[in-house]
Amino acid sequence: MADGEAGIDRVLTAPPPTFTEDEAASFARALFGVEGTAHEVASERDQAFRIEGDRPAILKISNAVEDPARLDMEALAAQRVVQLDPDLPVALPRQVPGTDAYRAPTHKDGATHWARMYDLLPGRSVTGSTLSDAAIRDWGTMAARVGRALRGFWHPSAGRVMLWDVQHALRLRPLLDSIRDPEARALVSAALDRFERTVTPVWPSLRAQVLHTDLCASNVLVDPAGKVTAIIDFGDASWSALVVDLAAVLETATDGRQRDSDEFFRACRIVVDGYEKVTPLEPMERRIIGELLAARMCAAIVVPSSRAGLYADPDSLMPFLRSQGVEVLRMFTELGWDEVTRRMGGREPGEGWSVSALAARRYHAVGPAMTPPTYREPLHLVRGDGVWLIDADGRRYLDAYNNVPVVGHEHPRVVEAIVRQARRLNTNMRYLHETALEVAERLSATTGGALDTVMFVNSGSEANDLAWRITRAVTGGSGGITTDFAYHGITEAINALTPEEWQGGSQPEHVRTWRPPDTLRGFDGSLDDLDRAIRELVEAGHPPAAAILDSVLTSDGIIDLDPALAAELVRRTHDAGALWIADEVQSGYGRTGAAMWGYQRLGIEPDIVTLGKPMGNGHPVAAIITRRELTERFSPTGEFFSTFGGNPVAMAAALAVLEVIDDERIVAHAGEVGEYLVGLMREVAAQTPIIGEVRTVGLAVGVEIVKPGTTEPDAAMTKEIVEGLRSRGVLIGTTGRHSNTLKIRPPLMFQREHADQLLECLTVVLAR
Ligand code: PMP
Repeated sequence: MADGEAGIDRVLTAPPPTFTEDEAASFARALFGVEGTAHEVASERDQAFRIEGDRPAILKISNAVEDPARLDMEALAAQRVVQLDPDLPVALPRQVPGTDAYRAPTHKDGATHWARMYDLLPGRSVTGSTLSDAAIRDWGTMAARVGRALRGFWHPSAGRVMLWDVQHALRLRPLLDSIRDPEARALVSAALDRFERTVTPVWPSLRAQVLHTDLCASNVLVDPAGKVTAIIDFGDASWSALVVDLAAVLETATDGRQRDSDEFFRACRIVVDGYEKVTPLEPMERRIIGELLAARMCAAIVVPSSRAGLYADPDSLMPFLRSQGVEVLRMFTELGWDEVTRRMGGREPGEGWSVSALAARRYHAVGPAMTPPTYREPLHLVRGDGVWLIDADGRRYLDAYNNVPVVGHEHPRVVEAIVRQARRLNTNMRYLHETALEVAERLSATTGGALDTVMFVNSGSEANDLAWRITRAVTGGSGGITTDFAYHGITEAINALTPEEWQGGSQPEHVRTWRPPDTLRGFDGSLDDLDRAIRELVEAGHPPAAAILDSVLTSDGIIDLDPALAAELVRRTHDAGALWIADEVQSGYGRTGAAMWGYQRLGIEPDIVTLGKPMGNGHPVAAIITRRELTERFSPTGEFFSTFGGNPVAMAAALAVLEVIDDERIVAHAGEVGEYLVGLMREVAAQTPIIGEVRTVGLAVGVEIVKPGTTEPDAAMTKEIVEGLRSRGVLIGTTGRHSNTLKIRPPLMFQREHADQLLECLTVVLAR
């Protein structure tokens, strides 16, 4: 019976055995057939002897109260680790000759002690600041490997309660009186209180398994370079939370660094890096590392003090560990626990900032040129989940605005694809990698084979920039044609094709615009307008190279182009010697609910298709799809290189998005929900004089707001509606030249119930 008071294992309170070195040498010979002299080495609760001889070994003689089943588990755990990770230098048990056992009985003073023989591995016990960064990082990696190797290991003795295992930290409380120094006692007491408040409640949710639990310098030896040469003792192995192993490593890695908190936490983070090379931590595990380390420090102070009665000189017991413990707890107390968590890397973004403080900080950090946050009271979002965005206070917002996460915010397939690939490899298109090729092939296939070549870049702007360069190179023209109030991107060349951004409306000399149909105001002269644009460009000495069109005309106010008109626009552009660029950054990936690409819904054949926004569901990735012949004429030497274009992580995201769109039948779904939403919207519009027109293309809906009974835009009212919806937990935007069109453009997995909720809120807001 190994359990003592309150279930705590008695091996820590029973005195260690007292065999002599001569006795040990004779056991080694008699029980294990190992010849050699014996030298006792330090051990906490057992006795251990180094047997110097032909085959150097360690003879361990257990405490009389030790449960033999535990010793079997110790042997099996060590063997399991080596079986699964043979390169780990684990000291293995030796069998008792002629048996299949790893232990043999010895007797003293009427008690039985189990003798075991372990391989003696080289190395020294080294701690703390003498270990290099590489050494502590590797130590962290080693701990993760040991944990990984033990993942599926089980033994009936794994539940033993060892005070060194931090899961039992609160059991140290009854022993606090044994600490003689009042400061140390107060520090331990406060750290245990903290543990109870923050660790105990989450403990049952942590990943758990059988672990070594004590991978500190007493059980891990290193060579002079700090490389681990021996993992020597599975005697504390228990079922515990996986992250517990990290605490033991941190105890060793930070020893000697505790008087310099910067250095202390730097070392901690490096150890965690090493650990996460093999086993990434879960957020909650990362958050409690400081408390776990503190709990180990508490044990380092309490356990020796409480055992002092067993020894002649209590202060000789682990004095260094005790003073390290006091210094660490003192430093943590001075810094405050939140700061400890932050420095351990355990604080998630979104914690600890007010919206106003963040807004001021943002203005200071990024200046006025970057787009200001939307809304009078900016949103501080910390999480996404499908159609929902969640702010720092936990409030959920229905996202009817963001078109990037087509398959929903934080779609698990996409997230995992990114994470998996990021862990494995991220390079560039100078090396062969299948994923980019698969994405390219799949994208070409979506065009029905009409466009057979894909080039990867990183943003919609870059895709358009590349497309524009190709059209210029191929046609020899220099003029560009775009719609009245289009947006196509931020590069200098594309900004010129972006009337929405023209300062003071000044139009670049080489660009002309055409006005899209405006049914509300009875304008249908788009074709004539295009002809005029072409003519003016030619006259200005800029024969057109390309016309570029966002197939749903988002910035122009979301307009449902008539296919016959679209076909004629393309024909006249081609007749003028220019190429047609379908900018699918907004309209692609199923937005129209009718086809993968907006141009397909219009039935036209573009020369170049440009992709962006939804392509990685939020991960930056973009591309063009075009004809091989155009790319050959653009870059005969094949020297178009974009550092990040086509990188394996971006491609993993892009591939996952394509898969999910297929698997979840996103395109058809967008069509159905779009129709449902617009039906509801038209009902509301019929009773709302300030709604001039509802326009829709799939799940892109534009609602034009006007002064009642007129066609006069009302931008102020539009803004009020957007703000009103925001305060009711629904996000939409505005668009159009006069900023008087509500822009509703949700993730494509938006459901009918979300449409209902949006309309309910809109009705309330409009009523005001
Ligand atoms: N084209 C269109 C139609 C867009 O809406 C945008 C972005 N709003 C872009 C191109 C530019 O994409 P990015 O911001 O990724 O550069």
